[in-house]
Amino acid sequence: MKRIIPTLIFGTMATLNMNAVVDKTFNYHVDRFADIEVLRYEVPEFHRLSLQQKKMLYYLSQAAQMGRDIIWDQNGKYNLQIRQLLENIYTGYNGDRNSADFKAFEKYLKQVWFGNGIHHHYSTDKFRPEFSKAFFEEQVASIPDSDLPLAPGQTRAEMMEVLIPVIFDPAVMAKRVNQDGTQDVVATSANNLYGDGVTQKEVEDFYAKMKNPNDETPVSYGLNAKVVKKDGKIQEEKYHLTGLYGPAIAEIIYWLDMAKSVAENDAQKAYITKLIDYYVTGDLKLFDEYSILWAEDTQSDIDFVNGFIESYGDPLGMTGSWESYVNFKNIASSSRTNKISSNAQWFEDHSPVDPRFRKDKVKGVSAKVITAAMLAGDAFPSTAIGINLPNSNWIRAQHGSKSVTLENITEAYDMASHGNGFNEEFVIDEPTKKMLDEYLYITDMLHTDLHECLGHASGRLMPGVDQDALKENGSALEEARADLFALYYVADPKLLELGILDNPDAYQAEYYKFMLNGLMTQLNRIEPGNNVEEAHMRNRQLIAKWVLENGRKKGKGGKDVVELVKKNGKTYVKINDYPKLRELFGNLLAEIQRIKSEGDYKAGNDLIQKYAVKVDPKIHKEVLDRFSKLDIPPYRGFINPVYTPEYDTAGEITDITISYPENYADQMLRLSRDYSPLTK
Ligand code: ZN
Repeated sequence: MKRIIPTLIFGTMATLNMNAVVDKTFNYHVDRFADIEVLRYEVPEFHRLSLQQKKMLYYLSQAAQMGRDIIWDQNGKYNLQIRQLLENIYTGYNGDRNSADFKAFEKYLKQVWFGNGIHHHYSTDKFRPEFSKAFFEEQVASIPDSDLPLAPGQTRAEMMEVLIPVIFDPAVMAKRVNQDGTQDVVATSANNLYGDGVTQKEVEDFYAKMKNPNDETPVSYGLNAKVVKKDGKIQEEKYHLTGLYGPAIAEIIYWLDMAKSVAENDAQKAYITKLIDYYVTGDLKLFDEYSILWAEDTQSDIDFVNGFIESYGDPLGMTGSWESYVNFKNIASSSRTNKISSNAQWFEDHSPVDPRFRKDKVKGVSAKVITAAMLAGDAFPSTAIGINLPNSNWIRAQHGSKSVTLENITEAYDMASHGNGFNEEFVIDEPTKKMLDEYLYITDMLHTDLHECLGHASGRLMPGVDQDALKENGSALEEARADLFALYYVADPKLLELGILDNPDAYQAEYYKFMLNGLMTQLNRIEPGNNVEEAHMRNRQLIAKWVLENGRKKGKGGKDVVELVKKNGKTYVKINDYPKLRELFGNLLAEIQRIKSEGDYKAGNDLIQKYAVKVDPKIHKEVLDRFSKLDIPPYRGFINPVYTPEYDTAGEITDITISYPENYADQMLRLSRDYSPLTK
């Protein structure tokens, strides 16, 4: 539950990066459809890597891409079949590619590629095709039986009988992750993490029996398993070499083994070995052992994540979605995060929470800035800009965690945002705009650093408190806790003392952005009439609305700390008292830390229900109207660079080159062709 997703739509004109040289001619823009923009990111400094490091990066990238089918299948049981069918139609179509039906079909396929399935990656609502059923049926009819992705024993007619409602009926598999706690969230979620007929209560009972409350080093139950009902009995189908997703896992293991052969040091070899052992057996104890070795390796230049990691795709927050990140250290920028992480204990000791809930000893929070080299699985095409792992609470407490900021991704967002008109439309006045231009880039990076490397790692649970006690609100409250920690400290004079910031007011840029986003602009991601659902968005609205309400008349001169004001019929966020706003962030941090430490489900749920979920329809409509004039896509993601090995006559790799030749469809079709072990 520890990743930061981007909100960067502010085209900051700041000195882009203190260190890296940005190639101004690089073309970040790739594609634009529906509510999505696809970008490409640059991998600066790839050329500085040694041949051995380049090889390792290449092998890890192969391991990353080999898992693609897994996330598609986890996201929905018909996704792989639908992808093959749509791609067959797309590549074989010989009608008019400018016809309305084909254009609509192409848009749908691009959406499906982006969602790794038929549901939106973020809202998890099912996509609505805008082409006709007749068009679809006609296209499928033109495909010979031998090219149809039929399930074993399935006829053409049977396939269509299943897929037509899945694609066209809005009521069938409507939502991938249903978080509405008044319903059975397992039975009503369309993901493929639970088998047919399995209920929420059955899953909860199943794991409750398995958990030992006295176990101080519990594995992450359910992380690598689908829960199914067989012969009336609830059981796990584990993901491992000879289990579910075996053919994909075999490929991943092969490439991990290759990577191991060129690993940088013994520590890295050791954790790759553990990871392979875990993939072979599915034994979660081995995954914990791997996670500890991985968290403790802070020396290696090349690093990666490859596995079932984050649990946002599971309404019960247990099963990990398959993902992979491959990256290497950005040495220059890492000095910033080094300064923060080496002072972790100072930050913990001075945090505004009840001392009982602080950690006496913050364990090895290591932080670094990285250059992403490959994104895959659940981290592709939509990706995080910061990650903090491992997720297991006891491992974090006893062995520490590793926190990374993906700077080349943030940079790509920022570069691609220049001149998009956002600031002119939503920021209240010229001085505020100027402040954002000057300080938002750096304070936003710092917010990510603080959120990931200190926020999630801070605080502790009281003895006997179940780490899942906050249930369906756990993710949103955890994100709020980390965000509040970051907001509180981004304004701390300590950052000037450490030489990270040069202006005591720089934090105001991040505060303004956060409040504007939480109160208004993030609503751009929500369809009219819907509530806020996604954990990070709930977190942001919770914080913003709570401080808005609790800061009434508490600012200097009796003004509101933050207010919404009207100018020329438009609503703007106005911040009247920044120091007081910081104090309010601190107060809310103290309360949410208490809720987490004590496992106070009721208080947490009250906060969520009161501030995080409901949308003011008037503001919502206004935000959507103002955005519609700007044509800024609410969501963005990336395609990856292409790595190509060069060989000598003996078949040895002599170099790996990097290039960025593909458009969006090229890349997606290539991945389906070359990296689809579950559909071959
Ligand atoms: Zn987080």
